[in-house]
Amino acid sequence: MSTTTAGAMNAPSQASARRKTVGLSLLFVAMLAFPLLPQTGIPFFVNLGGQANVDVLSTTISYALLAMGLNIVVGFAGLLDLGYAAFFAIGAYLYGVLTAFQVMPHWSGFWEPFAYLGLVHKISMGGAEVVHFTLSFWLAIPLSALCAALFGVLFGFPTLRLQGDYLAIVTLGFGEIVPIVFLNATPITNGAAGLNGIQAPRLFGYNFGVNSVPYYYVAIALIVAMIFISIRLRDSRIGRAWMAIREDEIGASAMGVNLVNFKLLAFATGAAIAGVAGTFYIAKLQTATPDMFNFNVSAMILVMVVLGGMGSVWGAVAGAVLLSVLQFWFLQDLTSWIHTFGEMTGFTYLTKLDLVQSIDLIFGVILVVMMLFRREGLIPAVRRSPNLNFDAQHAVVQRGGFVGKEKLGRYTAEPGNALEIKDVTVRFGGLVALNKVNITVPSGSVVAVIGPNGSGKSTLFNVISGLVQAESGSIKYHGAEILGLAPHKVLEKGIARTFQNIRVFPNLTVLENVLIGQHARLRTGPFGAILRLPGTRAEETRAVEWAKDIISMFGNRLAPRVAQTVSGLSYANRRRVEIARALASRPKILLLDEPTAGMNPNETLELAEQIRDLKSLGLTIVLIEHKLDVVTRLADNVIVLDHGEKIAEGPADEVRRNEEVLRAYLGRAAGEAAHAA
Ligand code: ADP
Ligand code: MG
Repeated sequence: MSTTTAGAMNAPSQASARRKTVGLSLLFVAMLAFPLLPQTGIPFFVNLGGQANVDVLSTTISYALLAMGLNIVVGFAGLLDLGYAAFFAIGAYLYGVLTAFQVMPHWSGFWEPFAYLGLVHKISMGGAEVVHFTLSFWLAIPLSALCAALFGVLFGFPTLRLQGDYLAIVTLGFGEIVPIVFLNATPITNGAAGLNGIQAPRLFGYNFGVNSVPYYYVAIALIVAMIFISIRLRDSRIGRAWMAIREDEIGASAMGVNLVNFKLLAFATGAAIAGVAGTFYIAKLQTATPDMFNFNVSAMILVMVVLGGMGSVWGAVAGAVLLSVLQFWFLQDLTSWIHTFGEMTGFTYLTKLDLVQSIDLIFGVILVVMMLFRREGLIPAVRRSPNLNFDAQHAVVQRGGFVGKEKLGRYTAEPGNALEIKDVTVRFGGLVALNKVNITVPSGSVVAVIGPNGSGKSTLFNVISGLVQAESGSIKYHGAEILGLAPHKVLEKGIARTFQNIRVFPNLTVLENVLIGQHARLRTGPFGAILRLPGTRAEETRAVEWAKDIISMFGNRLAPRVAQTVSGLSYANRRRVEIARALASRPKILLLDEPTAGMNPNETLELAEQIRDLKSLGLTIVLIEHKLDVVTRLADNVIVLDHGEKIAEGPADEVRRNEEVLRAYLGRAAGEAAHAA
């Protein structure tokens, strides 16, 4: 049954993959052949050939490169950057300054080795011997990438603590600062007049000069490389970590993603691509002025990404191509057609219309229309998988059984106390959320934490997992202090958690969510992701296998839905995904914050049994739970919190009869009544 459904679902996707490959190959060949088209002299579409059109296409590809880079920052990692053109400018000026006749220090022996390497030449100017920088274009490409990436990290650093609007505003500031610096650093950049005479690339002694065709082929090589890099990063541990940050920062850090590193990596990667685009663009243009990199450019690239579909690699390309064609070709032709029409019909107003000047207005309209009618863009990043058919949706619930049981030796508890919480105090302003709380969790046991709402239970989990800071106290994990560690470090140690208000990654699939749980246990870095050598492949295969093993624990609740986005799942299934994601990190301790909330009695029972299975495998579990039958069924020890203080502790039956507990739950009168009875 399941194989036939899988087969039926795979068949069209294989066919469409084949169609896609054929389509892309044809497009690629067409692009290679483009400069061979003859120039006909008839305007627009018929007259595609010729240097000018080839040049426009190269410019278009430069923008596609930029869109691709910004897509990594905004689309993948969800970091709204309104000053992206700054990195475009840095790449451009790096090559510009190091090849134009602008900075020319006096010649000295210091320059000899550089001259030997061909990076500088000795020329005479007004009788004096000066240095002329002649950095090779081919060397400038990686150098710009590196330099822009450094600035990406530099600009990214102060923004790390910022999100959303604040991040956007700071990046907007950087986007303004960079062109202004270039404008005012006149001795180096020649100010508003800009750099002129920037050197054209050479290849095997051939000077590109002003011939559009070689630039065009370089552009194609660059865009193919960047598409490849983008896709490889997207489909890797790196891309998953970025998307986890985009979907839920707190959830991502609690699942082991180092927010600082991965945000900076996104900024650096995006910036590097912009740097490359800048060098290429300026080498082609052979002139650079600061106003080529102002806010309008940042905004235009952002519109390209939004139009194409945030987070979608092909979307970024499509958005860039569409808007460039609109701006550089279509609007000019359309304007001249309107002028002709105006002259013929006598509407003088029409003869004055210039659509090219209204490009910002047109971009604005495009943005509004996209937001209203197609927020996910022309080529959405998230491909909705078809819903399960009626039979699958109404299939009898099959309990899982952890097919990977034999692999779970890793859960075997180390002896001793897994957690020792001593005198932990957490304060939110004047409110004491936890007051000198002491809790010991023996390895391999299930400890339940109960207490009225607001008694500090979730805060306890937050302080263990590093999401809130304690004022005093100590938390030892197998004897080692973990208080004060960042959330991803706590997860690395082997403590995984779920959240009371579920923090799954809604726009990612069930499988991707569970894979992110393994982030801390996988090693693939950015270069590994791009190269995808056999080691990386094997790691990825193992990760997927492990994810599916974990998912199998929930029987047919999740298994048929692995390819679906989590946003479409039922509440109970989202809770299951969150538990599976935590388990995927191979924890020694699992912290479950009200896991059965919102589940019906059957589902509650099912989950209770699953938790007991996990315990029998040696996993240590701390459980916040309101349903007392679940607590009684599972817990070896129950801790009762009230107003941030531990008021009782002991086996479930004992705690249930405790007078103070009754008072906390039911009020003083009831407590006294119980006492009287
Ligand atoms: P519980 O999970 O037991 O219902 P919580 O631990 O969520 O309770 O909350 C304990 C108390 O701390 C509540 O009064 C809550 O309002 C407060 N609190 C929790 N988190 C924060 C926070 N981040 N900032 C300020 N107050 C908080
Ligand atoms: Mg809570």
